Amino acid sequence: MKRRTVSIFGATGSIGASTIDLVMRHADRYEVEVVTGNARVAELADLARKVSAKLAVVADQDRYDDLRLALSGSGIEVAAGPDALVEAASRRVDWVMAGIVGAAGLPSTFAAARTGAAIALANKESLVCAGSLLTAEIARAGGVLLPADSEHNAIFQAIHGTMDRTVDEIILTASGGPFRTASIEDMRVATPQSALKHPTWSMGAKISIDSATLVNKGLELIEAHHLFGLPSAKLGVLVHPQSIVHGLVRFCDGSLLAQLGPADMRVPIASCLAWPDRIATGAKPLDLAAVGSLQFELPDVSRFPALRLARAAMDQGAGLPCVLNAANEIAVAAFLGRGIGFLDIAALIEQTMDDAERIGLTRAPRDINDMMSLDVEARKLAATLLPRFSSN
Ligand code: NAD
Ligand code: MG
Repeated sequence: MKRRTVSIFGATGSIGASTIDLVMRHADRYEVEVVTGNARVAELADLARKVSAKLAVVADQDRYDDLRLALSGSGIEVAAGPDALVEAASRRVDWVMAGIVGAAGLPSTFAAARTGAAIALANKESLVCAGSLLTAEIARAGGVLLPADSEHNAIFQAIHGTMDRTVDEIILTASGGPFRTASIEDMRVATPQSALKHPTWSMGAKISIDSATLVNKGLELIEAHHLFGLPSAKLGVLVHPQSIVHGLVRFCDGSLLAQLGPADMRVPIASCLAWPDRIATGAKPLDLAAVGSLQFELPDVSRFPALRLARAAMDQGAGLPCVLNAANEIAVAAFLGRGIGFLDIAALIEQTMDDAERIGLTRAPRDINDMMSLDVEARKLAATLLPRFSSN
């Protein structure tokens, strides 16, 4: 059997590690073309050698010499800088993991979309900021968008990859994060350390904070809107602390179809990698008898206003979701650097969205370049508002 070619963007991250684990387990089916990382050169070089990649790209231009040195004699090509990332994404392969975190993943995701490859999308920020542009680009190139986010992957499996008129509602589950039962006073003084302690998933820092604020679920609502074409009113959220049911689809006859699985990202990523086939993942089989019971509850929007903000951004559309995303990236970095408090994250997002609307910074981006400038402008706006939320 001819092996499928794959490129892994964000190979040094948490999604990257799960993807690499899978391609190595199934080396008879997949061969790796490109691996990328942001700055950790030694780790990237190790990974590139491990999977015998053809090309390794480090996003930080200044690390070019380090990477070249680390891979000398390996025969693996080396490149550095944001333009090199886009060039690498333009290489024709069968399948691409878009696993870079944040809006920084947009240019490479778009470049990969233009090649017509199957895009496994973990980088939800791409869809949040530029959903219609990205889906149009993929359709134009004849590619396919495979959701790697566990909730969206669950839905994708339940509908066998195709939406139709029989779908009445899509429900995303949320673990509720480390502060599911915390008081607002406890959340006010929450430290990065406590916010990073996710109860069920092990993930990168940014998405762990997004899960604690429920911004992640807000971004996922917008992601679902673009993937499945439903309005806000037909997209629900259920808090489910066990993280076993990842998503549900309600059909017009009253049936609910759900996907269940262990909290291990190799499961949804494998579904994207082998789609429409299935492959073994090494994930520990789910023992439902040991779990005993599954719990569901409605999210508390008063403690987690991010859900309300995300719905407002989705309803208004145009540039507002991009503003929300940019403000969140600024807020999360400030919180992790102990510049603002935990509750200030949502407050900063809301203030940035309000100000963006007031000054007319909510235009619908015309193309990816326009989208990137909107992102830069929204970040600047959020940064100027930061001092109002200083935690000291
Ligand atoms: P991570 O922080 O572990 O890894 C991020 C990757 O992106 C790393 O390879 C890093 O080097 C690279 N990167 C960071 N900044 C970059 C930049 N400016 N330019 C180029 N590369 C850069 O993050 P993660 O948890 O793997 O998440 C990656 C994406 O997947 C995010 O969009 C996240 O929301 C999404 N996601 C993650 C999970 C999960 O379980 N980790 C689940 C669902 C969705
Ligand atoms: Mg998710």
